[in-house]
Amino acid sequence: DEALVGPALSHAENRALRRRLHRAWAARASRGRFDTTPLILQILALREEAARLLGFPHYAEMALGLRMCSSAARLEAFLEELTRAVRPHAEEEYARLQAFAAKELGLRRLAPHDLAFAMERMRRARFVDEEALRPWFPADQVVAGALAIAERMFGLRFVEEPEAPRWHPEVRCLRVEERGRTRGWLYLDLFMRTGKRGGAWMDEGAIGWRHPQRTTLPVAYIVASFARAEGQEPLWTPSDAETLLHELGHALHLVLCERTRVRSLSGLGGVPWDAVELPSQWLEQAASTPWGLRLLSRHWRTGEPLSRAQIARLIASRRFLGALRLARQLEYAWMDFALHTQPAPADAVELRRRVRQARDRAAVVPRAGYDRTENSFTHIFAGGYAAGYYSYLWAETMAADAWHATAPDARPRIRRARAFRREILAIGGTRPMDEAIRRFLGRPPEMQALLRRWGIEA
Ligand SMILES: [Zn+2]
Repeated sequence: DEALVGPALSHAENRALRRRLHRAWAARASRGRFDTTPLILQILALREEAARLLGFPHYAEMALGLRMCSSAARLEAFLEELTRAVRPHAEEEYARLQAFAAKELGLRRLAPHDLAFAMERMRRARFVDEEALRPWFPADQVVAGALAIAERMFGLRFVEEPEAPRWHPEVRCLRVEERGRTRGWLYLDLFMRTGKRGGAWMDEGAIGWRHPQRTTLPVAYIVASFARAEGQEPLWTPSDAETLLHELGHALHLVLCERTRVRSLSGLGGVPWDAVELPSQWLEQAASTPWGLRLLSRHWRTGEPLSRAQIARLIASRRFLGALRLARQLEYAWMDFALHTQPAPADAVELRRRVRQARDRAAVVPRAGYDRTENSFTHIFAGGYAAGYYSYLWAETMAADAWHATAPDARPRIRRARAFRREILAIGGTRPMDEAIRRFLGRPPEMQALLRRWGIEA
């Protein structure tokens, strides 16, 4: 799976091995009895039929009806604007990558199976190896730092509840307190163990709302599979710290929602699906500021935080080849958009043609002839992201803009953080998100902050 193939393609020095791996990976689910093409054709035809039966011109228009990005026209305009801004920079970055690969790696022609490898080598040559920073990110410090960031921004206190019931001895239960009053609870279950799923997520144990007779308080839990170490402090990475802040953003959204009398509008239930990542992507950006990194890091032996120079390099490496990576996201978003706005393709040939044309709207890097990414595009065919892949970029655009408004330089302004809480977190699903973000920013969201976050200076 991705967790195995990704690192191998980034690190394997054996070019023939990379080629074999990439061939198998990029063409998976496209041959023999595992070929998903017939299923894809059927799914697209059925989605189109369902939309037509309900009076929509195509599936995308139906799916977007309840979202913040409310129509296919609005979505297309968003993707077009972003593509126009990203593409020239992605082309420049690709040229630089090719030059680096030719000079430093002896790869005169950069093949699709060299791409991840060359990017990783260039990143390490120019910036930092995240793995080498583990000693500065012991688990206890990362957790304490993330909680401290939230405490300072929102005037909260996380109080350990050692007596609270829990499902595993390693789980921590924290009471979220504000001016002496309990706002809700937060469970943390962060370490890898056998039988536990990978990745990280936040989920609702209970949502806060006002019953006719009494009020329930929200309970959020964050589950992750971060590294553990027997007999010594587990050492995490800067990306783990960012992930934890991301999930904490979701948890705070749940815990800080104002409690309403309507259960379906309380908690995150009423938040438009494509705006759910706004609070999480907003808070995770604290891990890309010197202020946040100083709270999140401490050398496990010497107790020193990261140095100024290390912090600067780490932040720069986050932006490295950002336009190229954004262009890749846009390729997927265009593919999803095309497949759910055009009439369902009649056969495999038609499907390939549509996919090719859609990806070419943003593609900068040449694709391998055997590339059949669509055959394993589970996000849109099996994962609930049909006509929804754009939502990552959509929410991130708002999140970057809102973060910039919160922390225009290195350090967040407490007053702005409180305004974000009031206008965005507190409202849950009770007010349209378009209106909420406009009230917070004082204008509609713009793209500049997102582009800067990915290292693109206009
Ligand atoms: Zn998330």
